[in-house]
Amino acid sequence: MAAQRIRQLFEMADEIFKQDPMMSKRYVYLARRMGMRHRVRIPAELKRRVCKECGAYLVPGANCRVRIKNNMIITMCMDCEHLMRKPFSKTGI
Ligand SMILES: [Zn+2]
Repeated sequence: MAAQRIRQLFEMADEIFKQDPMMSKRYVYLARRMGMRHRVRIPAELKRRVCKECGAYLVPGANCRVRIKNNMIITMCMDCEHLMRKPFSKTGI
């Protein structure tokens, strides 16, 4: 199933990130392309880990900064300095 494959690609991106961030970017790219081709939505919790601007796989403390301000989660990609804002839910992320 495509959705499963997408999750797998994200897991691979996560694993390879420490050794090769560029490679994790490639896995994320493949996951997104697969989502588009099969019309499968990328789950919100995974989508949050990807920079919309440059497609980098984001790891807090490594290549992105996460701040919470005015009930918004603000994620800044350190690759391209793109900011992403998401409403912060009280039930957790
Ligand atoms: Zn970026």
